[in-house]
Amino acid sequence: MKLILASNNAHKLKEIKEILGGRFDEILTLREAGIEHETVEDGETFLDNARKKAHEIAELSGCCALADDSGLCVDALGGAPGLYSARFAGVHGDDRANNALLLEKLKGVGDRAAHFTCDVVLAWPDGRELSAEGRLYGVIAQEPAGCGGFGYDPLFYLPERGCTNAQLPPGEKNRIGHRGNALRALLEKLSACDDTDASGLPAENVVLFAASRKEEGE
Ligand code: IMP
Repeated sequence: MKLILASNNAHKLKEIKEILGGRFDEILTLREAGIEHETVEDGETFLDNARKKAHEIAELSGCCALADDSGLCVDALGGAPGLYSARFAGVHGDDRANNALLLEKLKGVGDRAAHFTCDVVLAWPDGRELSAEGRLYGVIAQEPAGCGGFGYDPLFYLPERGCTNAQLPPGEKNRIGHRGNALRALLEKLSACDDTDASGLPAENVVLFAASRKEEGE
């Protein structure tokens, strides 16, 4: 069974292959699968966005599709930047500006607790899905440290490790991180199924996309 990752991000592909590789014959990015598609991420939650991406690609490709959506949530900012993590300062993917704005907003703030959240959705072309969430808790440092990782990693301090995400040894972030945690939780649910064609999905894990959307709107 082939799995299409609803992304062209090589780092995500590597991490997903490490965790889910044993369950699929082949895992391909959108580009590798010859799919050109941009999902409009207009959901109200990370799960909404991951769900939309996964189902659009499963429908387009006729294969199982996996999507994720993630971001940083800071308690003192009411969960911001949250869904707007990538474009907090205005320009999508401007990590330097995003980090500078985050420090600016937290100037003089004592409670700097924060977490990364990642929601992953595995969708089948017939509309069924499995989903899981992973988190990583920490605090926002007073200044950036470290040069590994990306995004908010230089500001995301892990008190029990005594370093930021950007200072973790290579591979360690995947072992403890929000995306890895979400993928491992998804694998656990998948392992409870008989096979990856979804015919063995236990009833409590089977969600009909259309039905779940209807419930959310009610
Ligand atoms: P995406 O889900 O990969 O699109 O992530 C959205 C944004 O959240 C990224 O552009 C980063 O700003 C932030 N983000 C998500 N995961 C991480 C992480 O592991 N480290 C640092 N920033 C992250």
